[in-house]
Amino acid sequence: MTAVIMNGKEVAMNIRKVLAEEIAATGVSPLLAIVQVGDNPASQIYVRNKHKAAAEIGMKCRICYVPETDDEENLRNLLLDLNDNDDVNGIIVQLPLPQNFDELKILSWIKYIKDVDGFSPTNAGLLQMNSPEAVVAATPQGVLALLKHYLSDLRGKHAVIIGRSNIVGRPLADLLLNQDCTVTVTHSKTVNLPDICRQADILIAACGCPKMVKADWVKKGACVVDVGINRVDGHLVGDVDFDEVKEVASYISPVPGGVGPMTVAMLLKNTWNAYKKQHPLV
Ligand code: NAD
Repeated sequence: MTAVIMNGKEVAMNIRKVLAEEIAATGVSPLLAIVQVGDNPASQIYVRNKHKAAAEIGMKCRICYVPETDDEENLRNLLLDLNDNDDVNGIIVQLPLPQNFDELKILSWIKYIKDVDGFSPTNAGLLQMNSPEAVVAATPQGVLALLKHYLSDLRGKHAVIIGRSNIVGRPLADLLLNQDCTVTVTHSKTVNLPDICRQADILIAACGCPKMVKADWVKKGACVVDVGINRVDGHLVGDVDFDEVKEVASYISPVPGGVGPMTVAMLLKNTWNAYKKQHPLV
């Protein structure tokens, strides 16, 4: 048995194409503001990629650089200005922030309808309560879109998530619960992790441990989604040992080309949705 490859690149391209067509048809140009604090080189690459992806579908992007030496008050003032600026439709603060900045406090300053990363406490709470108002974080939303593209029905499936971060594991657990999955969230202190993973119909790895998930952790015929992005010897690898696991699973997402492109597509979708909420007549 060799698994079907979940082609995130292709699914994401189709989503971006639809967004580009919708935006072109309305003749408007939504604006995404990206706040980058400090000069983390990985963040610079992510910000550049988001800028390029936005431009490709007819969105504008404003990048606001904040020096690492600035204090939180200046950052707060910048975010409040962006919140109040009617030209700005979506705001993201590129993570991780330098150590001297309090992430949760800063994310809570973004107005929730402009919080297109969905990381603010308000959006996290709305998602947990299964509110249609929630702006859902892009990576978990991308995972769900990929699952829905390849699986006919998620109801009643046992989903095991490895990782409990605020940006992937926790919101993904809420999303899948809202889809009527039975959800188990595991983490670095979980005992007998391989045993729990073997119970999964859907196994999602989001722990940042290169190739940790092995073939004997996976139930025959399970669907395995790899969120991990790890650089090993200059190559990108996921949290799943792809070559082994593809022989056991029925579906598997590759790294790169799986969840990564879905994340970017969902960020753009969130920004376009934010624009439409702010301009209901469009
Ligand atoms: P994080 O470091 O914030 O959280 C990692 C989680 O994994 C924690 O909850 C931790 O308890 C758990 N964990 C760590 N080691 C473990 C182990 N040995 N066994 C079980 N659980 C373990 O990371 P994050 O931001 O959630 O990201 C996770 C991975 O996903 C990283 O590789 C990151 O680069 C990747 N990521 C990818 C995308 C994408 O678009 N594809 C987006 C965000 C994050």
